[in-house]
Amino acid sequence: INRFFDPIRDLSMQYTQLQRAGVAAERILQILDMPVELQDRPDAQKLPAIQGEVEFRDVVFGYNSDVTVLHGLNLHIKPGQTVAIVGPTGAGKSTIAGLLSRFYDVRGGGVLIDGHDVREVTQHSLRQQIGIVPQEPFLFSGTIRDNIRYGRLEASDSEIEEAARTVGAHELIMQLPQGYETPIRERGRNLSTGQRQLISFARALLADPRILILDEATANIDTFTELLVQEGLRRLLHNRTALVIAHRLSTIKGADSIVVLQAGRIIEQGTHEELLSRNGVYATLYSMGFRHTEAKAG
Ligand code: ADP
Repeated sequence: INRFFDPIRDLSMQYTQLQRAGVAAERILQILDMPVELQDRPDAQKLPAIQGEVEFRDVVFGYNSDVTVLHGLNLHIKPGQTVAIVGPTGAGKSTIAGLLSRFYDVRGGGVLIDGHDVREVTQHSLRQQIGIVPQEPFLFSGTIRDNIRYGRLEASDSEIEEAARTVGAHELIMQLPQGYETPIRERGRNLSTGQRQLISFARALLADPRILILDEATANIDTFTELLVQEGLRRLLHNRTALVIAHRLSTIKGADSIVVLQAGRIIEQGTHEELLSRNGVYATLYSMGFRHTEAKAG
């Protein structure tokens, strides 16, 4: 806890955060386009249709052998629950997300989905059932409709519109002169940040994965759009297992469980109320408006 509030450390942390904000988005984009490097085991089975139970069992992990990033992590997410991970930059939040989709293999312990170790199933069948919503949505040139359809290529126009309605994107899209046929330019720079986020929510909803990994955007948006995004997110997370690298206070508060991660270890876990009444690190972070983590009030 002392380390959290060491003023010199905080300053350097904020600086690193600024530097890393751009890098993190890049990295997830890379992940999305990343060639599959790990091999399926010869005896790998297809992951059957899952309920969405997630378990990290004594997970030890490092990107290389001399640095350990996660030190025996235990985390259980029941089907349908939302877990929000908070903690300073470098704590290991993105690493946990990456291990769940098996972009890397653990060094010790295991990551299990509905009891299946992710190393024992085909990567294709695993990723078919896990959706990823990166901080900065990946939008390509094509229409808004094409971009939403990317979530499930065989979706009909009415399914696309229904997904957009559910997350609250439909009205925003209809305000554009060409509606769903509006072309996306320069990775979406002709749209507002909120519009881009809602389009990526509609895309994820259309794919309808049992497990969703979401790296919440940190961008400042106006209050009205912020409310739209909050509501869209609530609808997207409803009824599926979600692991959220959370930055918005509203998301953190609404989670079934909040994990406070520091230097690759869970130091506290519980609901917002439980953690407040514990009067520990979370309560302090909260009272300080999460200035020292990546969360922002919202
Ligand atoms: P967070 O998401 O909480 O900011 P990360 O999971 O990105 O933390 O990083 C945890 C640690 O792992 C950090 O020390 C970071 O520098 C390191 N790390 C992250 N990604 C890589 C990578 N691809 N190669 C080597 N080290 C990495």
